[in-house]
Amino acid sequence: MTLLFTLLALTSCSVLGNDKSLPEAPTSTHNSSYVKPPYAPQITNQVTWSSGRSDLKILAMTFDDGPHPQNTPRLLDMLKQRGIKATFFTIGRSVDLYPAIAKRIVDEGHEIGNHTYTHGNLSKMSERGVRKELDKGKEAILRATGVLPRIMRPPYGALYNNQRQWVLDAYGYPTILWSVDPMDWKDRNASIVSNRLISRASPGGILLAHDLHKTTVDAMPTTFDTLLAQGYKFVTVSQLIRLTSQAQQ
Ligand SMILES: [Zn+2]
Repeated sequence: MTLLFTLLALTSCSVLGNDKSLPEAPTSTHNSSYVKPPYAPQITNQVTWSSGRSDLKILAMTFDDGPHPQNTPRLLDMLKQRGIKATFFTIGRSVDLYPAIAKRIVDEGHEIGNHTYTHGNLSKMSERGVRKELDKGKEAILRATGVLPRIMRPPYGALYNNQRQWVLDAYGYPTILWSVDPMDWKDRNASIVSNRLISRASPGGILLAHDLHKTTVDAMPTTFDTLLAQGYKFVTVSQLIRLTSQAQQ
C-alpha cells in the first residue's frame, strides 16, 4: 500500500512537471508512462536544402548567429512592420544570454533553427562532439522559447554528407544551406549587402544573412521593400520545405 502510494505520488509529480508547451500526450487516461518526444516531428526526408520550388515567387530569409541584444530586436521590429516571417538560426550560447529575445522571435511567428551551441566547426568533430553541440543548442532553444527546432544549419555550412544523413536520422533535422550568400560578415556595408541580396534572389531562394551585424540589419528595410515590390512572398524555411514537398508529390 505504501509502495503504491509512493508510486502514485511520483507519477503525479512527473505529470505536473511536464512542460505545457510540449505536445499533449496521446489520448489515454493512464498517461503516466508517456515519454515526451525528444525532438519535433520530422518535416522532410530530403537531407540537404539550398532552395525550394522555383515556380512560386517565395523566398526564405534566414538570419544566423543571433540573438544579438540590439540588432535582433531592431530586425524584429522591421519584420513586424512588414508582416514578414523569417527564420533565425541561433547560437545556443547566445540564446542562454538573451532568452527573452529568442522568445520574442518565436512569439512573433518566426522559425528558430539549431545552429549549434558554440558555433564550432562540426565537420572537424566526432559524432559525440556533434551530438553535444546539437543537444545543447536544442536545449537552450527549448528552455527559452518552449519549442523544439525542426531544422539545423551547420556553422560555415560545414558538414559532410554522411554527417548530414546521420543528423537527419538522429535528430530529424534537414541540413539547411542557402542559395544566396551576400558575404555580409565580410563586407560590412549596408548597400553592398542589400544589392547582393536583391540582385541574386530568385523564386524559391533561401537567403543568408547575419543579424549579428549592424550593417546587415541596416540593409534589410531596402532589401525587404524592394523584394516585396517585386512580388516576392517571404516564408519560413519549414514553410518553404512543405510547399516544395507538396509540389513534388
Ligand atoms: Zn553561423
